[in-house]
Amino acid sequence: MQAQAGDIRDKQAVVFDFGRFRNTDGEGIRTMIFFKGCPLRCKWCSNPWGLSVQPQLAVNRDRCSGCGACVRVCPHGVNAIDDGGKVVVDFSKCTTCGLCVQTCPEKCRQVSGTRHTARELFDRVYRDLTFTRRGKSGITLSGGELLMQWDVAAEVLRLCKANYIDTCIETSAFAPWDHLKEVAQYCDSAFIDLKHIDSVRHREITGVPNELILENIERMASFMSERGKYIIVRHPVIPDMNDDEENWRGIASFMAGLPGLPELNVLPYHNLGELKYEMIGEQCEVAGLDMMKKSDERIDRIREIMAELAPNTPLTIGGENAGQR
Ligand code: SF4
Ligand code: SF4
Ligand code: SF4
Repeated sequence: MQAQAGDIRDKQAVVFDFGRFRNTDGEGIRTMIFFKGCPLRCKWCSNPWGLSVQPQLAVNRDRCSGCGACVRVCPHGVNAIDDGGKVVVDFSKCTTCGLCVQTCPEKCRQVSGTRHTARELFDRVYRDLTFTRRGKSGITLSGGELLMQWDVAAEVLRLCKANYIDTCIETSAFAPWDHLKEVAQYCDSAFIDLKHIDSVRHREITGVPNELILENIERMASFMSERGKYIIVRHPVIPDMNDDEENWRGIASFMAGLPGLPELNVLPYHNLGELKYEMIGEQCEVAGLDMMKKSDERIDRIREIMAELAPNTPLTIGGENAGQR
């Protein structure tokens, strides 16, 4: 067993971002770690850099001056300058060596994804937390889907709990229960997404069915409430994807039957990810969808349905109001 403990101390996870002073991803002020890799492909995903578990090159062509430095330095012929004087990138040939990142004078290149052990991740967030620990604060692990790197994630959370830090995760719950449970044992709270109650429609809009997710939400509701902890089920409302009455009635009935009556947090659609898709050479499938406001009549309708079918389930709208106990 000692050998296993040693292994996890040495193992690295790939992370694509850190966040500081966030108020939408757990109780109080949160320090965030975003793990790379996700088994879902939600059509509206605003974190496309989190989908692949591998590090990847990102290039902001809007800022490119066409100087050609990246063309000259790249050993693999990834870059060329087009007739318009801007760089074009063949992402399939890139080895993410990073040479062009250091060379680009406009700083429009970066390699998204760095490798860290659990201890390195803990040390980094612990520094941030020393600034916020006077009030309610803590760490939230997010992604991508952190459960793709569940063992390092669990070790980060274990270190946090050993240092009396409040811990939270944001997950799709599309993973084996054993992995989710390993992580959840070190969590004070957990946000779990529920994007559609119908499995066929869920697969159409996210690429995977929802049976495992529904089972894991039920298991998490029991597991966490038995330990005096809690989950928040998060429903992002996406125009033309899941904004139908039948879906909301199904979600309300599901919520009303969950152990411990966890909160439903509804997130009106916003997408700030379209440029991020371009920067890694991909296209956003739902580019141009209208953003939603909290005052949207669809949100009012969810309130009415919840009042009818799940009157005892706490309901919050918008990330900043979620999970505040
Ligand atoms: S990261 Fe390396 S391989 Fe990729 S474009 Fe830059 S120099 Fe070429
Ligand atoms: S080095 Fe930067 S600014 Fe110059 S061509 Fe390449 S991407 Fe554009
Ligand atoms: S689960 Fe989250 S990170 Fe994964 S594809 Fe969906 S929105 Fe993107």
